[in-house]
Amino acid sequence: MEQTNRESIVPRGDMVIRGGNLFLGLEKGFQRHGCIRISQGKITEVSFGKQPSALAPCEIIIAPGRVELGSEIMVIPGLIDAHVHLREPGFEEKESILSGSRAALAGGFTTIFSMPNTNPPPDTPERYGFIAGLGHNAPVDVVVVGAATLGRKGQELVDYQSLHRLGATVFSDDGDPLWDPVLLRRLLKASARLGFIVSDHCEDPRLSGKFPLHEGSVAKALGLPGQPSSAETVQLAKGIALAVETGGRYHAQHLSARESIDLVRQARNLGWPVTCEVTVHHLFYTQEVIHRALGNGKCAPPLRSEEDRRALLTGCTDGTVSAIVTDHAPHLAKEKLLPLGDAPFGVIGLETALSAVHTLAKRGELAFERGIHLMTAAPASLFGLSGAGSLVAGNCADITLFNPAMEWTVEPPFYSKSQNSPFISETLQGRVAAVFKDGVLRHVLD
Ligand SMILES: [Zn+2]
Repeated sequence: MEQTNRESIVPRGDMVIRGGNLFLGLEKGFQRHGCIRISQGKITEVSFGKQPSALAPCEIIIAPGRVELGSEIMVIPGLIDAHVHLREPGFEEKESILSGSRAALAGGFTTIFSMPNTNPPPDTPERYGFIAGLGHNAPVDVVVVGAATLGRKGQELVDYQSLHRLGATVFSDDGDPLWDPVLLRRLLKASARLGFIVSDHCEDPRLSGKFPLHEGSVAKALGLPGQPSSAETVQLAKGIALAVETGGRYHAQHLSARESIDLVRQARNLGWPVTCEVTVHHLFYTQEVIHRALGNGKCAPPLRSEEDRRALLTGCTDGTVSAIVTDHAPHLAKEKLLPLGDAPFGVIGLETALSAVHTLAKRGELAFERGIHLMTAAPASLFGLSGAGSLVAGNCADITLFNPAMEWTVEPPFYSKSQNSPFISETLQGRVAAVFKDGVLRHVLD
């Protein structure tokens, strides 16, 4: 009878990722010589520490072949981005669900939340069902965030009960705030009853003036009016006050100011039902980047001061922040070449996010384990995504392989249809090498 080596026998459709540094969550951190077995799209076994040689490469074994990667490859859960603009339906020249999903995979993301500022927005059961149906064909999980008000006009709440029944777990008018305190209060009351999350673009448009820059040194030097930090904190404080009164779950999107982080920290210390996210570009850049990136450095909220950036990093480290997101917001090159005041707000970020967070880690500004946690298990827990965000048996085999040693300079083209990235020409440390979604190898770095 022929001798067989059990290790080499992998049933068709099954797979082993062997030899990488496994990320096993914030407490256990990275463990060397990992081994993950995958069958029928699920993780069936996770072990580590059994490799005989310290120099054994990370390898993917898919019968009958194998792919060898470097020995330092990090094996982490597929990333979750709770804030993405996919632009479909309505603005497919900027992005589509498919192109945005490809960009997500290239950046290591396997679950993305699509914001509702599409045309039409997901503001009725029919429209929500239609857009969610489009998302079902994507190669990543697309969570469709429901619009909070009809037409995102801020005047009348959607039929949140019906949308919730169709699967909407988050409501937002992102792009615009839930400015009317009466509507916001009613929605938060419903949130307390039904359990969905109210996710708010924290901007008081009267205070922000929709000015392109932060009211700081750069706007001053250019002689331009700017957005004060209070344009963010006034809306945030309103949301916090209404959340504590109603018991509704209030999530503050893309916070950018030091004072905002202080407010959320105090609210959370008091046990109030408030969470927040920050973006990668706000962690990485300050207002000065506009000199180099021009329109590609214009975003809402604006990039602020170094003191603000430091406060966001501290918020990530001390648990005030519950998710790092990209707020991936594709726009056409011709729009971004308009004068600063006329160019649209927003930058893309899916393809550079993990490399940027790793670069911050290499600089000693944020522990990489914390950064990954805020892009995996933390948002999975916040938004109730069972089966995602951690490498444990029984979970979906959503797995990202990251090469921390690969240095690269960001240049177009991107998988995204748009290229409005402030990271263009930035040299970043580490890059996504391969991505599995439900056990299927969906992306390999060329
Ligand atoms: Zn927003």
